[in-house]
Amino acid sequence: MRTSLLLLFIASSLCAQVAPQLPEIDRRLAAIAPATMEADVRALVACGTRHTLSSRTDEKRGIGAARDWLVQRMRQIAERSDGRMTVGVEAFTLPPGPRVPQGATVENVVATLRGTETERVVIVSGHYDSRASEPMDANADAPGANDDASGVAVMLQCAEALVFLQPRATILFVAYSGEEQGLLGSGAHAKQLKEQGVRVSAMLTNDIVGGVIGSSGQRENNFVRLFSEGVPSGPLSERGRPAQTIIGSDNDAPSRQLARYVREHAQGRIADFDVRMIFRQDRYLRGGDHKSFNDVGCAAVRFTECHENYERQHQDVRSIEGRPFGDLPEALDYKFMAKVAMVNAIAIHELALAPAALRQVRMLTAGLSPHTELRWEASPEADIASYAVNMRRTHEPDWDKNERRMVPAGTTAIVIERSKDDWLFAVEAVDKAGHRSLPVYPAPAQR
Ligand SMILES: [Zn+2]
Repeated sequence: MRTSLLLLFIASSLCAQVAPQLPEIDRRLAAIAPATMEADVRALVACGTRHTLSSRTDEKRGIGAARDWLVQRMRQIAERSDGRMTVGVEAFTLPPGPRVPQGATVENVVATLRGTETERVVIVSGHYDSRASEPMDANADAPGANDDASGVAVMLQCAEALVFLQPRATILFVAYSGEEQGLLGSGAHAKQLKEQGVRVSAMLTNDIVGGVIGSSGQRENNFVRLFSEGVPSGPLSERGRPAQTIIGSDNDAPSRQLARYVREHAQGRIADFDVRMIFRQDRYLRGGDHKSFNDVGCAAVRFTECHENYERQHQDVRSIEGRPFGDLPEALDYKFMAKVAMVNAIAIHELALAPAALRQVRMLTAGLSPHTELRWEASPEADIASYAVNMRRTHEPDWDKNERRMVPAGTTAIVIERSKDDWLFAVEAVDKAGHRSLPVYPAPAQR
């Protein structure tokens, strides 16, 4: 009896060695369920309209009903966080504007997963308000399944996947309001964080991420578009140029570094799915909540499906000559949406575990020289293992993986035998677990 128990023990421990458990995050990514996302989208659609100026007190119809549903849904997720995740409604009373003639109270629903750093945050978001054909019509049905219950469903899946995490940066999972009335909820949030001195190191917004068939019938489901601005649109310097603009860095603003980072980390992790970077802030005639964060100088990017169907966005629900109009849940592909959620969760997981981006990254330009000298301030983190210098030729969109130079912790300067006229560089910190910070493009400096 004893021998057989011992054999059983040896056999089971051998099994454990042969089939190691998947990392927690991989198990959670695999658990992202299209059916749950569909149920979330349909629960929001069931509010009839989620127009920002619709009822905030009716329990069944209007944006107040959607707010209450979201609070309850996020609290269910937070119950599994051992107290690290809290859920709240953050209300802002705003003055009259073009699409809120009497002013408005907008209410963002925010789940906060507290990190060891509370003054640095990463944000993943969608917007839960919706609209019909007429932007001021708060009464007509405005199901807003794709625009943007889909983005909210992605955000909720990120919260589900990451609730177990003890992150370094604090993660905010946000459902914004007032997007369709002029980015009101995100604008107020971005300004508030700035005033509170909270550093937003990355903001991802998901807006229209559920359809796979475009207006002219083109069908693609194997990538998601990721929009990022080039020259930063943040505060202007005294000379009237964006304060962060550096000559020759048109393609290296913080938001574009973030887009590259997201793609690099997601690439190859999801079967038959990729991130396609779009090198512009947004589509023509459209905007999104990332712009509110770009406007205050933060790295922020936008996910949107491959091809949009304009008969399904911002349209009253109706039929014209047999063609359906309106943003209804049956027009969406929930398997596609689940893959978008996986990309977001992978990116936020890495961004929240990684050390903060380096400060004072600079390139010496005191005199002409055929090489490149980079310097930076040592990371204050205790668990830095190394720094990495990324490189690429000036016309290339991505960092060249074969040209990544690693230097040990303690190093704060490097000379590279490459011309700074012909190459682009960015420096990142890598911790002992291998988590990589956002890379920072060097500013030209005399020393
Ligand atoms: Zn939208």
